[in-house]
Amino acid sequence: MESKKYVYLFKEGNAKMRNLLGGKGANLAEMTNLGIPVPQGFTVSTEACVKYYTDDKKISDDIKDQINEALKQLENISSKRFGDTEKPLLVSVRSGARVSMPGMMDTILNLGLNDNTVEGIAKLMNNDRFAYDSYRRFIQMFSDVVMGIEKRKFENLIDSAKEENNVKFDTELKSEDLKKLVLKFKQLYKKEIGTDFPQDPKEQLLESITAVFRSWDNPRAIVYRRINDIPGDWGTAVNVQAMVFGNMGDTSGTGVAFTRDPATGEKKIFGEYLINAQGEDVVAGIRTPQPITKLAEDLPQCFDEFMNIAQKLEKHYKDMQDMEFTIEQSKLYFLQTRNGKRTAQAALKIAVDMVNDGSLSKDEAILRVEPKQLDSLLHPVFDISELKKTEVIAHGLPASPGAASGKICFTAEEAKNHHGSGEKVILVRLETSPEDIEGMVAAEGILTVRGGMTSHAAVVARGMGTCCVAGCGEININEDEKIFSVKGKTYHEGDFISLDGSTGNVYGGAIKTSSPEISGYFETFMGWADSIRKLKVRTNADTPKDARQAIEFGAEGIGLCRTEHMFFEEDRIAAVREMIVAKTTEQRKKALAKILPMQKKDFIGIYEAMEGKEVTIRFLDPPLHEFLPTAEEDIKNLAVEMNISLDELKGTISYLHEFNPMMGHRGCRLCVSYPEIAEMQTTAVIESAIEVIRNKRYNIVPEIMIPLVGELKELKFVKNIVLETADAIIKREGIDLKYKVGTMIEVPRAALLADEIAKEAEFFSFGTNDLTQLTFGFSRDDAGKFLGDYYDNKIYESDPFAKLDQIGVGKLVELAVTLGRKTRPDIHLGLCGEHGGDPSSVEFCHNVGLDYVSCSPFRVPLARLAAAQAQVKNPRG
Ligand code: ADP
Ligand code: MG
Ligand code: MG
Repeated sequence: MESKKYVYLFKEGNAKMRNLLGGKGANLAEMTNLGIPVPQGFTVSTEACVKYYTDDKKISDDIKDQINEALKQLENISSKRFGDTEKPLLVSVRSGARVSMPGMMDTILNLGLNDNTVEGIAKLMNNDRFAYDSYRRFIQMFSDVVMGIEKRKFENLIDSAKEENNVKFDTELKSEDLKKLVLKFKQLYKKEIGTDFPQDPKEQLLESITAVFRSWDNPRAIVYRRINDIPGDWGTAVNVQAMVFGNMGDTSGTGVAFTRDPATGEKKIFGEYLINAQGEDVVAGIRTPQPITKLAEDLPQCFDEFMNIAQKLEKHYKDMQDMEFTIEQSKLYFLQTRNGKRTAQAALKIAVDMVNDGSLSKDEAILRVEPKQLDSLLHPVFDISELKKTEVIAHGLPASPGAASGKICFTAEEAKNHHGSGEKVILVRLETSPEDIEGMVAAEGILTVRGGMTSHAAVVARGMGTCCVAGCGEININEDEKIFSVKGKTYHEGDFISLDGSTGNVYGGAIKTSSPEISGYFETFMGWADSIRKLKVRTNADTPKDARQAIEFGAEGIGLCRTEHMFFEEDRIAAVREMIVAKTTEQRKKALAKILPMQKKDFIGIYEAMEGKEVTIRFLDPPLHEFLPTAEEDIKNLAVEMNISLDELKGTISYLHEFNPMMGHRGCRLCVSYPEIAEMQTTAVIESAIEVIRNKRYNIVPEIMIPLVGELKELKFVKNIVLETADAIIKREGIDLKYKVGTMIEVPRAALLADEIAKEAEFFSFGTNDLTQLTFGFSRDDAGKFLGDYYDNKIYESDPFAKLDQIGVGKLVELAVTLGRKTRPDIHLGLCGEHGGDPSSVEFCHNVGLDYVSCSPFRVPLARLAAAQAQVKNPRG
């Protein structure tokens, strides 16, 4: 039997095989087939990685055979041999998942070097120094990545070597010094591991491939996957590629570049390179790189060729490219290309520019912007007046735009902790590394002392839409003592600073921020999204202010107006408490009469703000005791106000206490017990609508939504109160007012019996917060405490309260859609949980045919774009 293919030569692949070959592998293959100079190699597929994990973390013999076979072919292509002393083949071993996870997994360079081949390389290249420099790099990387020996231990040895020889830079070490260093490195290896550094290149290769597979599951990769919605079962591919050397002298070098400016989107080449350096040196920010345009002076021919290929790649992929290249003795090689990460501003400008110049269709352009990125456009900028009052203490690179103000933290851990306790933090680091990822997520802004525009901090911050100032060399940082000083002033942990990621300015002190202005590109692009999408986008808004904000962001209505939020306000809570502890219907009606005008006033404000757009008002939802006073003082006051004894009130309060409030006396259950609440709320909705219709001439059709329904009779009971009350008012006012009564589908029983429920409900709105909670059977307030263990043990990959559980909760949604339509073909369907602002969940809503999603105001643009993307991917009528 022919065994399954797990290993592909670059010339056997193409860009469409990304799932199998990973992004890096697929693009190396594509470039090979386009005739672009790429050092040749092969890719061990993602399926091999998946198999590695199912085979108890072992590479099976048939995969090993295929690797050896591919290696033979690579030897033939390159006319070099693995382990050969005359013409040794050296390779890099590079990770590459389906989607790029920059810096999350590991790469090993110069593999194939040993005590013999290093001499071969020295002779072949006629360069001793280079050979030993490569060897010491290889030992260092292999020891770190494959064997887990701390990098620091090797760096200490390099530092002592520099000291001994009285030099400042690595590049000043002579070949004799490097030879000694290699000996010391091997000794360190033996001391740490107990065996000699492996001399057999094939053993080195298999160990390294295994290490890359292993790195798919390192903790920082797992965190990155969770943040970026990447499934854990995809696995990574491994690319084995012939080495080319940027560290062979002044006609060699290495660099990274983008075809457009990733911060602004401007159409001009943008990048950095280092002469006489190898791969990692540019990104690591060890030496300060040159801007790419300077290459035109250093190596003009290489620059021209580079520019030609860069343009060819952008045309070919129809997107801005992020490329890695190396020049070996004036010969240019491309080592990677991918669609470049960019800021939201840049993403919009590039998408619009590329439609305008005819490179993209609008449908294609819509897919070029990450919905989540839009967030960063809506984030605050500095208040100009305050900005002037605050001193600029330093200036760094404007690595990722936006404004941030917060307390200084020097470690990712602290940033995470302070953020967890509700503080705003600025993460200040010498430079960031992938281990800092959680701290970077927690921070409002990131400030680094070292590193360029393509440093780790810059790339990651841009991707997250977090403000970042990088390479701020004026600052003297002492990470151990947790201080930094600049211009004679010292800043401690916990002091406030502010960053402007668009100018690179660092300010000493806190600065107020305000909402940003939205650019013309945004308007144009979002206009296209709106013309494409079928799914409507409403907002969750409880106040006129939120409603106006949401309309500005493009909301088409309110999908969820929570009436209880109005109850909590200072001047109302007393009346609400009175209602709750009332013993008789009389008493309760009296209290409700006090609430009615307030509620009416709120609804009038909302109807006016919405100018006739649809508004769904949900009746009182939370457990009653949430409104009760807890402080002794408040309880006393309430007793006095209600003219009852303190003991009696305390008795009522403890009676109302619930063991499981989320599953207690709440939602429509309250109206079943106290119909007068539904009566009051109906009155407020209908009377306020009539008033606004009369005053403003808006066309209003109130939508009343009954929460937490699980049974038809229950819905009918509450609906009857609504109908009686509403119809009486309408008759009294002599007005022709239509209104709708619908329900939330948030109790699994309602989803299961949706055909029944639809008999009385004119619309469904999926309340996926409660539906998730009740389907999983865990509380959304407590799940955070144990979900981490579920991620660690790979039971769940993401928070089901943030990202809809499409296979479980989603199944209930689909069922309810089908059943609801069976009874009432024109039933109006929406979703109003947190998931309305999550792109993959929005896509799901589009796919199951909902009419709208509703999300918080700042999420509205995101949902509009996600809905348009869903339509492009899966058009619906
Ligand atoms: P990452 O995904 O973290 O960027 P890469 O696999 O791209 O990791 O490799 C890290 C660095 O090593 C890059 O700068 C890359 O250009 C360089 N590199 C990788 N393979 C080779 C090779 N065959 N020859 C020369 N440099 C290489
Ligand atoms: Mg790379
Ligand atoms: Mg609910």
